[in-house]
Amino acid sequence: MSNFRINLQQTGWHCLTDERIAFIGARLIDPQINLDAVQDIIIESGRIAHIGKFPANWQGERIKAAGNIICPGFFDMHTHLREPGFEHKESVLSGCLAAAAGGFTGVACMPNTDPAIDTPGIVQFIRQQAEGQPVEVHPVAAVTKGRKGEVLSEMVELAECGVTAFSDDGSPVASAGLMRRAMEYAKMLKAVIIEHCEEPTLTANGVMHEGAFSTRLGLPGWPSVGEELAVQRNISLAGYTGGRLHIAHISTRAGAELVRRAKQEGMNITAEVTPQHLTLTCEMLTGYDSDFKVNPPLRETEDCEILLQALADGVIDCIATDHAPHTDDEKAVEFIRAPFGMLGLETALGVIYTKLVLSGKLSLTRFIDAMSVKPRQILNLPAATIAVGAPANLTIFDPNLKWTVDRNKMNSKSHNTPFHSWELTGRAVGVVNRGIVWMIKQALLCYPEQSEVSRPLFQMSASLRSA
Ligand SMILES: [Zn+2]
Repeated sequence: MSNFRINLQQTGWHCLTDERIAFIGARLIDPQINLDAVQDIIIESGRIAHIGKFPANWQGERIKAAGNIICPGFFDMHTHLREPGFEHKESVLSGCLAAAAGGFTGVACMPNTDPAIDTPGIVQFIRQQAEGQPVEVHPVAAVTKGRKGEVLSEMVELAECGVTAFSDDGSPVASAGLMRRAMEYAKMLKAVIIEHCEEPTLTANGVMHEGAFSTRLGLPGWPSVGEELAVQRNISLAGYTGGRLHIAHISTRAGAELVRRAKQEGMNITAEVTPQHLTLTCEMLTGYDSDFKVNPPLRETEDCEILLQALADGVIDCIATDHAPHTDDEKAVEFIRAPFGMLGLETALGVIYTKLVLSGKLSLTRFIDAMSVKPRQILNLPAATIAVGAPANLTIFDPNLKWTVDRNKMNSKSHNTPFHSWELTGRAVGVVNRGIVWMIKQALLCYPEQSEVSRPLFQMSASLRSA
């Protein structure tokens, strides 16, 4: 707890410890209950105590939040926190900091750590690292021991300690026979299998999307059929076993089409897409910048368009970041040798909001549904909702705040973002969860009487100004 607070304050965040806090005049949006209204919201002892007109006699801290949006806390169901084993890239703590800065109140972290997350002991260790933070961390456990693809992990024991999702992410479960068994266990345990869909015999050595551009750049290709075949195999196995399948970071139009058809047939499968696969293409690799190297690779413009359509109409359920930190040294090698992965937690909101919501391609409610509601449903976690009596689990963002992504000002330990120098509109200014309210300090300090800033973000009552 104390570490986290110090970190946040050092990076421009501020912790409000008051038991009673009111946000005045924000636009409250909760797609689950068709709420979209400008109202006051009062939080007392970590719960939503009141929604509606601010009662005149109420005593507590008041934050003027007009112009901001308050919604159920964002949840990223695909984050790599790198601990244990790779703390030089990211730790649970630094990852939570990046998550909070991006407006997330919860993440599910992937098991490609060292050791892999394949025992209850490691699950507990990660949870302990995240204790007392406003960002909940839910470990996803490995499908196979050590993620080696040889024998199943102790899925029963892992489920008994609260794991609701299994994945070998970073790699696919290459053996169809093992995947079948994993899905049978998942069905029995009411858990979900999150699969990184890649047919390894087609993608070996591939570093970018296979097509005209990979030929031109002279780089080995990772063909879209490598995803298509794996998606089809896993849909077939889910149909055969009745196990629940979630497809990670879908990147191809063919993959999205398979999910659409499976859902039309009534299958209980879900899928996620990342901001990078919605907004970046393989044509951006002409500079051989390894920050654009990611697995699955960036595809073509048509893929982005079809993925966006699938997200907008609900065929793809949610947005996940696949936040994958690597150090500058690891990335500063030849493109072909650099590790796959890019940061995502701190840019997801701004990138999606600027490129897809402001442009009218994705509705604001569907955006919030895909960032907050659906990921928790897929993972069988309690819903975050804006209702009186519910735990206050909220994201506060300013949809008009303009900012420029700077790879050197990340809260993450790493800097590998392909969005460096992008000018974005929309940014998180605070998160509320587990009885803790974190606000960007700058937002707190922008009250009019000392303002060089054109528009006050928040106005604080007198006692908080001096805090
Ligand atoms: Zn993956």
